[in-house]
Amino acid sequence: MERKINFNPGPAALPDEVKEEFALAVRAYKNTGLSILELPHRSTAFTDIIEESKTLVRELCALNDDYEIVWLQGGGRLQFCMVPMNFLPDGSTAAYIDTGHWAHEAAEYAAYYGKCTIAATSASVQYSKLPQWPMTLPDNTAYLHITTNNTIYGTQWHNLPEVNTHLIADMSSDILSGKRDCTQYAMFYAAAQKNLGIAGVALAVIRKDLLEKTARQVPPMLSYQHQVKQNSVVNTANVAGVYAALLMLRWTKQKGLDNIAAENNLKAKALYAAIDKSKVFNARVTEATHRSLMNVCFTAESPEAEDAFMQLCARQSIVGIEGHRVTRGFRVSLYNAIPLSSVETLVGLMQEFESSL
Ligand code: PMP
Repeated sequence: MERKINFNPGPAALPDEVKEEFALAVRAYKNTGLSILELPHRSTAFTDIIEESKTLVRELCALNDDYEIVWLQGGGRLQFCMVPMNFLPDGSTAAYIDTGHWAHEAAEYAAYYGKCTIAATSASVQYSKLPQWPMTLPDNTAYLHITTNNTIYGTQWHNLPEVNTHLIADMSSDILSGKRDCTQYAMFYAAAQKNLGIAGVALAVIRKDLLEKTARQVPPMLSYQHQVKQNSVVNTANVAGVYAALLMLRWTKQKGLDNIAAENNLKAKALYAAIDKSKVFNARVTEATHRSLMNVCFTAESPEAEDAFMQLCARQSIVGIEGHRVTRGFRVSLYNAIPLSSVETLVGLMQEFESSL
């Protein structure tokens, strides 16, 4: 079977080493005599997986003991619900920065649970850049929510100023893409299917002082406090999904965050340079400091040219480059597992396409 070059936004490409190790565990997990797909969630073997994964998250994110770490189900969107459920008390306001589809949806979900305000938005420019910071927040702000990387629109916050409220971040599409000061955040979360493994699990990291301030009684399954107390096994956990995340964390540590960041920079630089030089392709985000290193979004001069380039890519076994249905054009996702060589192949094809016109 021919191998594809996979630029999908998530579920996304995984490193070969991780897939091979996972395949072995599907046959037999260590000396348990069971497949990882059969491993009980309350077994010692799974507790060991959880503990090692937490240790690696703590180490890679340079967190101290002020933070709790849990694996949850329901992907990114369930976090859109759980954050306000747990941390937006009556009488307070949740502030959201609206940088596009996911950021907006997170705010919409929060409005089910309490008062929600959009502290800044770049909707008027179709989210082609990041909104101005600083912004004014209401006095009774419970937290400020941001989306560190905007998967659909291709923008990314590279530096964040201090804020005087709890900062909560959706890091689904750029977690562990390089070093960052995670202690700026009272909480961050990420759906796993990009830099952290496969779909069906989400990581949540919560500072203890925020955790103690739970806003209301919520059912145990949806309570961060309860999930922390039960060490991520309130119910039948996604054992294989957490194991895949552990393999990704081990791979990330082995590669080193500095090397990962350097490679991510090279990949994005190569692709943006090709787009900027081109007379056919146009970048969605023009301000260099707002550009995402994870999701590069661009269009071609006409829908016909877009179709033709898409077909050329398909013939060369390149998949996953179509833009999201709301933006169209192209979106090339360059998560940690994508090698520079894949980007070079794509860039070569863009140049070949342009010279054939
Ligand atoms: N947040 C971001 C930044 C995302 O990119 C996505 C999905 N691509 C989500 C949230 C939603 O994740 P899920 O599909 O797991 O609910």
